[in-house]
Amino acid sequence: MESIIQSSIEKAVALLKNGEVVAIPTETVYGLAALIDQPKAIDYIFELKGRPRSNPLIVHVANLQQAEKLCDSFPTPLKKLAQQFWPGSLTLVLPKAQQVSNQITASKNTVGIRIPNHPILLQVLKETGPIAAPSANPFERISPTTAKHVADYFPEGLKMVLDGGACQAGIESTIVGFENGEVILYRLGAVSLEEIEKVVGKVALFNAQKSTVVTPGMSKKHYAPKTKTVVTKNINDFVNQHATSKIGLIMFQQSSKLIVAKEVILSPSGNLNEAAQHIYQTLHKFDQLELDYIVIEPLPNKELGRSINDRLSRAVHG
Ligand code: AMP
Ligand code: MG
Repeated sequence: MESIIQSSIEKAVALLKNGEVVAIPTETVYGLAALIDQPKAIDYIFELKGRPRSNPLIVHVANLQQAEKLCDSFPTPLKKLAQQFWPGSLTLVLPKAQQVSNQITASKNTVGIRIPNHPILLQVLKETGPIAAPSANPFERISPTTAKHVADYFPEGLKMVLDGGACQAGIESTIVGFENGEVILYRLGAVSLEEIEKVVGKVALFNAQKSTVVTPGMSKKHYAPKTKTVVTKNINDFVNQHATSKIGLIMFQQSSKLIVAKEVILSPSGNLNEAAQHIYQTLHKFDQLELDYIVIEPLPNKELGRSINDRLSRAVHG
């Protein structure tokens, strides 16, 4: 049987225009894409993912003009962020224009938009116009960072995964909005808090406890591997206390020098961007190894380390 992993941009464009769902590469993680004016295809995204329809989708566009057509207004601080980071891994939550359907925004009066920084996807977007695309994983599973991860998640139900190689950023986009006159960060991701604050000053962090609005990117246990996963500074203690268990260790920069079933070092040079690029890929790989535990060393809590730690805190079981 022919693989669903293919590299024809023309074919992906034709399928999308024909109302099909196609998996697409982005620089953050792979997405499940449909054109914003294809309600049946959008509905199928939710069905395929098993995603509650109360979780809005991010709309991907080719340029700022397309983004402006989808929103009612563009608060100045968010415009500054767009100018600085687009194309790139930052999603802006903007007051939605009427043409954006409630199906995409989960009936919110805002829409999440970004211009992705992936040459293949940008080429697709130029020909199709805006695309709604959440990450291409079943609900509550780890986001995919290669075409194969997507094909493994969805052996049936997808006509095509457009191959764009391994994702350069490797974790989800950062999500930022504007409420009551201040910039608010809803989800930590591939653009660091420090980078954002350099452009707009101090930003408020969304507090899930205080809000009645549940933002799925902020929900607990959202990105879990199947294998029991633990994040701990006390790697030695954990390994010693589980001497008979099959353990996969994920270290940041240096080897634990412990004897375990498997160990991966995310970035021997201590580069947090490289660690982000490798984290999900390593979790996907370890999840295939029938380990008893995946044990992860927390990253330095700054720049992308903070974003990775946040993502990992949602991968932990229990
Ligand atoms: P995913 O692409 O799978 O990472 O999911 C999209 C993320 O964007 C979810 O966590 C949504 O809650 C978030 N999102 C999309 N649109 C909005 C919006 N209008 N307001 C707040 N969050 C949003
Ligand atoms: Mg997701």
